[in-house]
Amino acid sequence: MKSQIKFLKFLLIGFLLSIILMFAVPSVAETFLNTAYIRPRTLVFAKGNFWVYAHNNFSPSQQTMIKSASNKLHEQMNNPSQRSKLIDCGLRRTVRAKPSKQVVDNQLKQVFVNPASGNRPIKATVAYMWGEKEVVGRGTLGSGEFPEKGDLLRVAFNSDYFGDSSQFSLRNDVDYWSATLLHEILHNLGYEHPQPKGDFITEFDLCVNFNGSIPQRFGLNGGTEDNIDDVYFRMRK
Ligand SMILES: [Zn+2]
Repeated sequence: MKSQIKFLKFLLIGFLLSIILMFAVPSVAETFLNTAYIRPRTLVFAKGNFWVYAHNNFSPSQQTMIKSASNKLHEQMNNPSQRSKLIDCGLRRTVRAKPSKQVVDNQLKQVFVNPASGNRPIKATVAYMWGEKEVVGRGTLGSGEFPEKGDLLRVAFNSDYFGDSSQFSLRNDVDYWSATLLHEILHNLGYEHPQPKGDFITEFDLCVNFNGSIPQRFGLNGGTEDNIDDVYFRMRK
């Protein structure tokens, strides 16, 4: 009888400890990463297949920006000729590891146009990042297989760089933040950039920023693009 009570006590303490650890470990991890990935979050955009949640720590003006950026991106990606123009622009500028147009088009359609699996929406969560210098956003690197993890896309925006209280020159630039949202989603889809420019993910980002109307890159450090490069490649994403 005594040993049974002991065992029950052991179970109860174990149970309580696991509950505490379940909440404590992610919070500690988030503090180290300067990024809050855990809920609570709010659905700020839902059109067709594409749903976007924003972490509740974001201010109203930041939530509005996430909503506007999602809306612009969704519109661009649902327009077949615009999508095609943007991919062409990105591929033209890419100087290494060029993906095929068909592959990119299919991936974008799976996220923004057709449900990747049945009628389940693609849910993207924008996590809350803070206190990181010269990093505007982050995206978890995926395997390139899609869909994965229940159609969840995980990205983070640095709260110091957008919304009304930020000092960043592009804090209210919807084009910049919709391009950033796409950039981080592309990380989820398996794209990497060992170099700060010249890879598809960074060049496509820029094409989305400028609606596909930027010239072919003539050498990474030359020509008329130096101004664009200074402004748009200075911040890490
Ligand atoms: Zn990146």
